[in-house]
Amino acid sequence: MSRVFNFSAGPAMLPEAVMRQAAEEMLDWQGTGMSVMEMSHRGKAYVSIAEKAEADLRALLQIPDNYKVLFLQGGATGQFSAIPMNLLRGGKRADYIYTGQWSKKAIAEAKKFCEVNVAASGEPDMMHVPPQSQWQLSDDAAYVHFTPNETISGVEFHWLPDVGDKPLVADMSSTLLSRPIDVSRYGLIYAGAQKNIGPAGVTLVIVREDLLGEAMPQTPTVWDYQQQVDADSMLNTPATYPLYIAGLVFQWLKDLGGLEAMAEINHRKAQKLYDAIDASPFYSNPVDPQARSWMNVPFVLADDGLDKLFLEEAEAAGLTTLKGHRSVGGMRASIYNAMPEAGVDRLVEFMADFERRNG
Ligand code: PMP
Repeated sequence: MSRVFNFSAGPAMLPEAVMRQAAEEMLDWQGTGMSVMEMSHRGKAYVSIAEKAEADLRALLQIPDNYKVLFLQGGATGQFSAIPMNLLRGGKRADYIYTGQWSKKAIAEAKKFCEVNVAASGEPDMMHVPPQSQWQLSDDAAYVHFTPNETISGVEFHWLPDVGDKPLVADMSSTLLSRPIDVSRYGLIYAGAQKNIGPAGVTLVIVREDLLGEAMPQTPTVWDYQQQVDADSMLNTPATYPLYIAGLVFQWLKDLGGLEAMAEINHRKAQKLYDAIDASPFYSNPVDPQARSWMNVPFVLADDGLDKLFLEEAEAAGLTTLKGHRSVGGMRASIYNAMPEAGVDRLVEFMADFERRNG
């Protein structure tokens, strides 16, 4: 068996220890004689798995008691519409911060339900986070939505917006669990799993209790947060296996020392890569240094005629999925929690060597 360092933006690498445990338990989960995949979601065994996953997540993120945790389906994209349906609460307007392609998609979806005020944007370069002093929030917005980490461009907030008493809603798909956060500052946090949480198929929503119970009357049942809360996220059959794996990831994070420890490693990994890029005229990263993502590091070669060769040789060296998003070109190294530091070291060495031979 030979595993590669996979720099995919998602689905992305998972911790090897997690997959080894899953493999061991694949045919017989803890003496039940069945795989987690084959269990009834209402049975004692599976309910214990789901409860432990939630308890461990609550411990990791120190989620206050007045927040509900939901494990849903439909990805972060499903939440782009679930959020207005649930959080407008009779309001007609919501504020959105536009910093990249994912916030753009969230805005487009919200426009189906309400007036969207784009309260701030990263235009024209889309390579920075607009400072709070430029935000034009509306008085009557039901909530303020932002995307703390734009996965495609690698633009990340390293500060927490202050939106007064408006609920702050965050699409944390590509940053959740990369570092500690103060959940109490948010009205709602959501994330698709396939970066830092687990396999694709489960979507995490953390929502403050007082925002629940006022979904639009026409809200489909599976998208109604209150109904999902009442049903312990089992209003219909949940994504049982992905949640089981997410639970193993939460345990792995706890064993590692929690999110403070994870943040230290992530910061170091990102710094190594940005330092390597900045030190060389052969590579560059276009993002404002204040807004560079810890998780997604795009970079371009000075001569894009070498892109193909770079990707081929990287692949041959066991460094895979480095091609940038089709809309941006160049390269993108996604270095989520499960990317070992050795993977970043290998990439940095490969980049230096490639430059020596082609620079
Ligand atoms: N938001 C962000 C920030 C993302 O990175 C992604 C996926 N790459 C999405 C939303 C969409 O997620 P999903 O595919 O789970 O719907």
